[in-house]
Amino acid sequence: MNKSHIKRTLLLGAVVALAALATHPVAAQSASDDPCVAPALLEKQAVFAKEAGSPPSTPVSVPRTAALTSPLVQQLIVARFPELTRKQVRVRTFNSDYDFFRTRFSYSRFFLFRRMRYFVEVNPRLLSLSPPSDGVCAILGHELTHISSMSHGNRLRLFGLVRLASGKYTTVFERRADLEAIRRGFAPGLKAYRQWIYANIPAEKVARKKRDYFTPEEIDALLSRLKQDPALMDFWIRHVPLNEQQIMAAPGSGNFGKRRSSE
Ligand SMILES: [Zn+2]
Repeated sequence: MNKSHIKRTLLLGAVVALAALATHPVAAQSASDDPCVAPALLEKQAVFAKEAGSPPSTPVSVPRTAALTSPLVQQLIVARFPELTRKQVRVRTFNSDYDFFRTRFSYSRFFLFRRMRYFVEVNPRLLSLSPPSDGVCAILGHELTHISSMSHGNRLRLFGLVRLASGKYTTVFERRADLEAIRRGFAPGLKAYRQWIYANIPAEKVARKKRDYFTPEEIDALLSRLKQDPALMDFWIRHVPLNEQQIMAAPGSGNFGKRRSSE
C-alpha cells in the first residue's frame, strides 16, 4: 500500500464517519433515554394499568390518549428512529373495533406539494383494555417503520406505497413493517402486542390479523433462524414470508440466489 493510497483511505474513513454523524445525530443516546426499556417502560405500564376500567371511547379519553401517546412517539423517534427527527410526525385518534394503531399522511399536503406531515393514529379504546407497555412500544415501532419508509423518496414512490398498503398487497406490506420493527429490536414487544390483540378484538377478526401480521409463533421461528443466520433478515425484507413454513424454508444466506421464496 503506497502513501497516497493510505491518505485516500484515511480521507475516505473520515468522510464516512462524518456522514454517519450527520445522518445519525442522536446515535449517542444512552439506553436510559429510550422510552421502551426499563425503567421508563415500567412507568408506562403503571399509567396504562391506571387507565384500565375507564369507559371506552369517552370524550375524556380522546385527548388523554393523544397526551399519553404523543410523548412516547417523540421519545421513540429520538431513541430509535433518528431518520425521523426532522420530519413532522403527529398523533391523532380514530375509532375502530379491531384496529388500535394505524399510519396516515396528509393528502392535502401531498397534492399541494407542501412539506409532508405524517400521523400515527391511536384508538382511544386502547387505554381501557390494559395493553402491555412493551407491546405498545413495539406497535409504535411498527407504525414508525411505515413512516420511515413513506418519508424517503419522492411523492411518486409514496403513491406506490399507498397502493401496496391496500388490497392483496396488505399482507406483504404489513409483514415487511413487522420485519423492520424486529430488526430494530421490537420482537418481544411485538409478540406481547399480538397476544394482547387476539384477546381484545372480535373473534372473527383474529384470522385476518394472523394472516396480515406475524404471529408470536412465527416471530419465534424468525428469531431462531436469525440467531443462526442474521443475514436472512435482508432476504426476508425482499421475499416476505407469509407463514411459518416459508420462514423455515428460506435458504441459508450461503445459498441466496439459488432459490427464491415467493413474494
Ligand atoms: Zn402497519
